[in-house]
Amino acid sequence: MKVLITGGAGFIGSHLCRRLLQQGDEVYCLDIFYSSARANIADLEENSRFHFLERDIEEPLDLEVDRIYNLACPASPVHYQKDPVKTARTSVLGAINMLELARKNHCRILQTSTSEIYGDPLVHPQKESYWGNVNTIGLRSCYDEGKRMSETLFFDYHRQYGVDIRVVRIFNTYGPYMAENDGRVVSNFIVEALQGKDITIYGDGSQTRSFCYVDDTVEGLMKMMEQDYTGPVNIGNPDERTIAQLAEMIIRLTGSSSRIVYRGLPADDPVRRKPDISLAKEKLNWAPHTSLEEGLRKTIAYFRERSL
Ligand code: UDP
Repeated sequence: MKVLITGGAGFIGSHLCRRLLQQGDEVYCLDIFYSSARANIADLEENSRFHFLERDIEEPLDLEVDRIYNLACPASPVHYQKDPVKTARTSVLGAINMLELARKNHCRILQTSTSEIYGDPLVHPQKESYWGNVNTIGLRSCYDEGKRMSETLFFDYHRQYGVDIRVVRIFNTYGPYMAENDGRVVSNFIVEALQGKDITIYGDGSQTRSFCYVDDTVEGLMKMMEQDYTGPVNIGNPDERTIAQLAEMIIRLTGSSSRIVYRGLPADDPVRRKPDISLAKEKLNWAPHTSLEEGLRKTIAYFRERSL
C-alpha cells in the first residue's frame, strides 16, 4: 500500500514509518521539522520505498495514496505554545487538507487525536464517551481546541462526504526518538538524570499521568487503521503514576545522583490522567504490554547512546 504519514519525522511518526516499511508498504513521509528532526528518519532515506516530502499540511496536497495517518502537529506543551496560532492552523487547516486528500483518493484516513481533548478531566479514568473539561482561552487551548476541532472535522467529513475515517486519542507516549529538548516529562527527567542536573518537578509532583511505550502506541495505531470501527478509541497505558514516582524511578534506573527540585505548575496542567482502554481491547484486541520499567530502560539506553 501507498501510505502517507504526516509528521512522519516526529517521535511517533518515525516509528510508524519504520514499521510500515518493514511490512512492505510504500511510505510517503511529510514533515517540516517544526518539532521533529531529519535524524529521526536518516536510516530510512536509503530505502527505495521511502519518500520524504518537506511540506506543510497547512497547504493543500495532491498525492495518490491508499492510507493517510495524520500525525503532524507539535505535541509537547513547550513546542505547541511557542506559536499557538500555527498550532491551531496545523490542526484545523491540516485536518481539512488531509481530509480533502482522502476524499479525492477515496482512501482511509486516521487522525491521531489526544487525551488533551479531555482537558483537566472530571471523570476518572477517561472513557471515550466523556466530553471533557477544557478551557477555551488558556495557554493549552490552541492544542486542545485545535485537536477537538479536528475530531469534529473528521466526523463531519465522514457524515457529509462519506470519508472513511478512524480516530484515536493518544495518551502520554514515550520512548526512543523523543527529542532531547522535547520538553515533556520523560525526556526532561532522563536527560537531567544522565547529566547529573537537578530534576525539575512542576508543582508538588502529585499530579498523575499514564505512560505508554511507543511500540505499543504504534501497534495500536496500525490495528486501528485496519479494522472497521471509526472511533474515537483511546490508545494509552492505564498504569497511572504520580510525577514524583516517575522522577524516583528514573533516578533509580539511571543510578543518577541528581536532586529533585520543585517549580511552579504550568497553567491548566491536568491533575489526573488515565485512559480507560476497554474499547481498544474490545474493538482492536489491543492492550499495551511494555511495563514502565522496561520502557524506561530502553529509553534511557537510547539517550545514553547519544552520550548525554
Ligand atoms: N512536568 C514536570 N517536569 C518537567 C516536565 C513536565 O514536572 O520537566 C510535569 C507537567 O507539569 C505535567 C506532567 O509532568 O504535570 C506531564 O507533562 P508533559 O509536558 O510531559 O505532558 P502533558 O502535560 O501534555 O501530559
